[in-house]
This record gives sequence, structure tokens and C-alpha cells, in this order.
Amino acid sequence: MNKKNLYDNVLEIVGNTPALRLKKVESYFNLDNEVYAKIEYMNPGGSIKDRMGIYLLKMAEKNQLINKDTIIVEPTSGNTGVGLALYSTINGNKLIFTMPSKISKEKELLLKAYGAFVVRTPTNVKPDAPNSYYSVSKIIAKLIWKKNKKLTITEIEEIVIYVQNLVDTNNLEKLNNILKEDIKENLLAYIPNQYFNKYNPESHYRLTAQEIWSQFDGNLDYIFAGIGTGGTITGISKFFKERKEIKVIGVDPIGSIYYLIKNGMKLEKAIEKAHTYKVEGIGEDILPETINLNLIDDISVVNDQESFSMTRFLAKKEGILVGGSSGAALIGAIKYIKKNNIKRKKILVIFPDSGRGYLNKIFNNQWLIENNFEVDDEKILEVLK
Ligand code: PMP
Repeated sequence: MNKKNLYDNVLEIVGNTPALRLKKVESYFNLDNEVYAKIEYMNPGGSIKDRMGIYLLKMAEKNQLINKDTIIVEPTSGNTGVGLALYSTINGNKLIFTMPSKISKEKELLLKAYGAFVVRTPTNVKPDAPNSYYSVSKIIAKLIWKKNKKLTITEIEEIVIYVQNLVDTNNLEKLNNILKEDIKENLLAYIPNQYFNKYNPESHYRLTAQEIWSQFDGNLDYIFAGIGTGGTITGISKFFKERKEIKVIGVDPIGSIYYLIKNGMKLEKAIEKAHTYKVEGIGEDILPETINLNLIDDISVVNDQESFSMTRFLAKKEGILVGGSSGAALIGAIKYIKKNNIKRKKILVIFPDSGRGYLNKIFNNQWLIENNFEVDDEKILEVLK
């Protein structure tokens, strides 16, 4: 941060997010520890994905995988898309995102607000199905590569409408044909792919972790973080473990595969056992290349209800409006602290994004009731005291 807090472009105000001590939470749960939260919604794009999205494209530019005419295509449910959009303002790159239908309309509109095109895909399909959000992003890139010339906005729009129509009419045969086509990649489209890009954990190693280290002078005993792609926890853990003894604990929702694998279950069996849950941004039904489970000491498992109750409690008691994965990370931390009788330690919990994107869900009693959740937060949290 410079002295007068004056900046020239949006990239300069990414990072340097505050860490806030959660004193109300400490006393409510009788925790004899210092518990801090890293408040990532203070980033300009509103989440922990700002540093990462920007870093992926910076490295792609450095490695000559993109230029100013490259269209960025990515399967994303929101936060990563915003990070990519921030970097795209530098060279004016166009963006196309694919997004499963379970993600709210608001998140689609959010990405469109940054000038992106969005293609919606069905939710309950296998990742390798031709209409999954992963496959559709590849199909879009292939159609762009095939054009082999710089596209006008109208031509981009035509591709978006064409693909959306194939998805909406469930034309799996045509989608599959395009997916299987052997088309040479070129600079016209690029898929950063946060699930397979080594620069995802590296961004957190070089940026997020470094920042946390200097905030606490390395003086932390535990770090808790939810696991999505695993980029955050893997990058942070590597940086800290290279420098000191620390316990890094992942938080995983019931229905995800991570805690099953960490406890020795075979990948295929864990994938078979995976089922849906409502908390967004954490847990997976595939094993991304961006996670290193060896760098995670243990995993604390949480359910939707306790995650949501904790999220709502945070807004009311600490004045911090965060998303469900933050509530999940905190309740996962508290359960772990209690279970292992951890005392007099300095603990950091990562809060990845803002609650504003979830006003119609977690913070809407009607939605909770319709989905059979308890709206009395303290009734849920009291028993975890
Ligand atoms: N919380 C939210 C809201 C997210 O969008 C993500 C990213 N999927 C995470 C947590 C997990 O971060 P990571 O992918 O780095 O594990």
C-alpha cells in the first residue's frame, strides 16, 4: 500500500486485505485462542480469486499463450471469472464463461457486468459429458480456434448463441462432434483452467501466503481454509511449511471427496460416494491437479446447516457479511479446536468472499425453510459451544 492510498489501476488495489480478530466468536464459543479471519471480500473483485485470476493471465501473457486479441474462456461459477475480468481490462481481452444452472442468476449478471459473455449449462451432468460446463468451455474454444482469424463482437456473440442453443436443445451429438474434432490450438482463445493450472497454487504461494506471513510476522500456529480447487490451501501451506512448523487444516463439506481420500479411500470409490450439497465454492467431485493433499495436515468436515448458521451469525455478531464457504471454514475450525482441545494458539481462518452474492439464499429465511434448513442460528451453534 502506498502512503496516500492513491492508485493508477484496479490491479494495484488487489490484495493487502485485512485480518480481523473475531472476539465475539471467541467468547461465544469459549475459545482460549486468538482467532483471526482474513477478509478477502475487501479485494476489488470481491474475493480471494482476484490475485489468482490476475496471476493466471499474467503468466499466460509471459508464456506467450495469449495476446490482446485472445478470447479468455473459462468454466467458472463466479469469483474466478471476476479475477480474470480484472486482468482483461489491461489489454481489453474478451471473456466467455460457462456456468452450471444451479448458480444464481445474480452471478451470471455479475460477470456480464464486467463485459463477459455467459453460457449456461445443466447442473446434474458428469464432468466428461459434452454439455458439462467443463466440456462446453472446450467446445467454445474449439469453435474460436477453427475461425482462425480475429473475431468481431458480433461473431463472438454468434458463437455464444449457437452453443447456448445446442445446450438448451440438448443436442449432445453435435456438441460431442465438436468436442472430438481435432483442431489446432492458436492464440485466438485460451482456457486458463483453474483446476489444472499450476499457477493457481503458485499465485497463493507467491502472493496470498507472503501477505499473511508479513501480517503476522509468520507467527501463526494454525491456518484453516475451505478446499475448492485446493489452490489457496496448497499455496499457503507450502509457503509456511518451508519456513516454520504449522498445522494447516482443510475444511470440506459432506458430499465432497477430499476428506474421504485423505482418510485413505480410493479415488474411484470416493467419486462414487460424492453427492450434492448447498454450500458454494468448496468441495469437489473430481480430483484437481491444483491440490497437494500431503501439504494438508488434516481435514475438518462440515454440513450445510452449520455452515449457513455460522455465516449468518458472523453478519449479526461481528458485522462481517461473508459467503457460505467462510462460515464453513470457521465452523470447521471451531469444531476442530474443540475436538482436539487446542488452547492458547494463534489461528487464522480464510474468508474467501462476500455475503452479498448469497442474499437470496443463505440470508433469505424463505429459501432456508424451503430447503429444510433451520433459521434459528443459535439453536444450531449452541450445541457446538
Ligand atoms: N470459497 C469460495 C467462495 C470460492 O469461490 C472458492 C474457489 N472455488 C473457495 C472457497 C476455495 O478456494 P480454492 O479453489 O483455492 O480451494
